[in-house]
Amino acid sequence: MKKPTTSASPISETRSRRRFLHNAGLVAAALATEAMLPRPVWSAAGSTKDVKPSSTILAAECDSPHPHDIRIRWIGHSTVLLTMGGVNILTDPVLFDRYGINILGVTVGPERLVQPAFTVDTMPKPDLVLLSHAHMDHMDTATLAAIAHKFPHSVDVITASRTADIINDYAWRSLNEMDWGDTASVGSIRLKALRVKHNGWRLPGEACRANGQPRTGRSYNGYCIEQNGIRIVFGGDTAYTRDFADVGPVDVAIMPIGAYDPYPETHCTPEEALAMATMMKARAFVPIHHSTFKQSEEPLSEPLRRLRKAMQDSTTQLALASVGKTVTVRLA
Ligand SMILES: [Zn+2]
Ligand SMILES: [Zn+2]
Repeated sequence: MKKPTTSASPISETRSRRRFLHNAGLVAAALATEAMLPRPVWSAAGSTKDVKPSSTILAAECDSPHPHDIRIRWIGHSTVLLTMGGVNILTDPVLFDRYGINILGVTVGPERLVQPAFTVDTMPKPDLVLLSHAHMDHMDTATLAAIAHKFPHSVDVITASRTADIINDYAWRSLNEMDWGDTASVGSIRLKALRVKHNGWRLPGEACRANGQPRTGRSYNGYCIEQNGIRIVFGGDTAYTRDFADVGPVDVAIMPIGAYDPYPETHCTPEEALAMATMMKARAFVPIHHSTFKQSEEPLSEPLRRLRKAMQDSTTQLALASVGKTVTVRLA
């Protein structure tokens, strides 16, 4: 099995690199038995920032779906299900009662305060799991192992540079890393990995890209996801950064708004999250990373309250605010 590459590239680098981590036998078996989602295809990382999104309308819940609708459902914390042309993309799945370190079969970490919109038992099959980074509230090995066990050899996974080793033993169809600026296509869906401002170490002492180890440390991504001219940004976990000014315009910005107190160097405030959405000329905003786990000092309800206040003067609309809610993005 090929090891994950350990080289890193600056964001200005324009060449994409492909990182397949699966053995040939597994790939051959998948090809022989499955005729479903095309395997992710990596392409030269051309900039997409000049592509203007098609006009869209947004509906909170839609009774008469169109085939090209994109549906965005908040499952809880940073877990979002995007359904695009029949393809299910699941971000940072965390579906159990706690996340954290497993000690003798017991998960030690924050308790979930709001039940997820679905469980592993009731979830639809994800075609693609998109992971932003290796922090335990985003790359939850218990949830990922359960997904791979339920849907063996049928889920593609994309994650940040130098993080795939954590989940390399599970039965994925494919497991790949993307670095900042890399692009990939999955059927008609185009993906671009975005630089965010965060850190990447999972356990104390691990190499981290943000801690002076840019070529060996664990990295962290946001993603731009595009289909039929509709562009959605999943911001992952990030502090305030002007890097998002290069991303827009987008239709929907899915951005974190919680855990800023006392961690402003790695987590944006609600006002900063909205500022970054404004930078991207986002028409709609889906807040994540709030109201699900108690991770920080600010009251659990504060991020959403501050966001609503900040949005009073914004042209960006709040697309949804409750776990389980869906927003539909439609070509006009
Ligand atoms: Zn994080
Ligand atoms: Zn987080």
